[in-house]
Amino acid sequence: MKLTDLSTIREIMTRHGVEFQKKFGQNFLISPAVPQKIADAAVESDSNTDQLRGILEIGPGIGTLTRELAERADKVIALEIDSSLIPILSETLADCPNVKVINQDVMKTDLAALCADEFISQGYSVSVAANLPYYITTPILMKLVESKLPLNTITVMIQKEVAARLCAPAGNSEYGAITASLSYYGKVERLFNVPAGCFLPAPKVDSTVIRIRLYDTPPVSVESEACLFRTIRGAFAQRRKTLANSLMTEFTQLGREAVQNAIVSAGLEPSVRGERLTLDDFARLADILYKCEIENN
Ligand code: SAM
Repeated sequence: MKLTDLSTIREIMTRHGVEFQKKFGQNFLISPAVPQKIADAAVESDSNTDQLRGILEIGPGIGTLTRELAERADKVIALEIDSSLIPILSETLADCPNVKVINQDVMKTDLAALCADEFISQGYSVSVAANLPYYITTPILMKLVESKLPLNTITVMIQKEVAARLCAPAGNSEYGAITASLSYYGKVERLFNVPAGCFLPAPKVDSTVIRIRLYDTPPVSVESEACLFRTIRGAFAQRRKTLANSLMTEFTQLGREAVQNAIVSAGLEPSVRGERLTLDDFARLADILYKCEIENN
């Protein structure tokens, strides 16, 4: 069964009385090379371990990428929110005994428990692969990294503009709070672009596949992770303002003078803007602000 064929997709969906659900960000792949390349990237990046290779897929749709993952990995767990797709997946993945589909919303799933039960306790490594629904890309990525799962890599197709933001270096206009926050958890690489015509229905935007290699230990060490993320959030809260003014949104109680002093103590120019700060800069600044807050209390 060739799941990237337009006629096959339409036939299966019609037979099961299923329609594309815009609210779930359903744009299915119709270019055979793309799911193959995503699966290659996701599984290859996991192959430097002696363990069995486990893949957690988010949003299998009708199973196009899932089948490619199943060919390369030892076990695939696929979380699909749309219950109407489950009978289709039973059919399209009937010959893939190493795939288990779970009808669940990834945002409501206890991913740590899932990874422990399905992968780690059974001797599998675990990486994520997905053609992510656009409407919820950033929340899913943040949930994956913030849950501190034992993941090796996250290989996902996302909107091209979002990928540009996630891969931007400090100082670039695309660099923002999400870029800096994500760089605490892993190294993001841009793999390849995918034009809108490779999907059914075609979205209005092009896509990019990125891969995040998660760090075992963060590249900076801080007194308080919560304060680091507040510092990052505060620095980008008002992008047109200077760092001190923007940080005041998160550190109001400290007062402007203390915030300005913290910036100087961190070795930064008082007039600097948040987008120029590297993760190292944020870590230094966050530790000083954290100390100020403790002394203030
Ligand atoms: N993997 C398929 C492919 O590449 O052709 C489908 C990708 S489609 C862009 C996104 C998929 O994610 C859809 O099947 C959609 O129903 C599913 N989805 C959307 N929100 C979800 C959520 N919160 N949890 C799990 N799956 C979700």
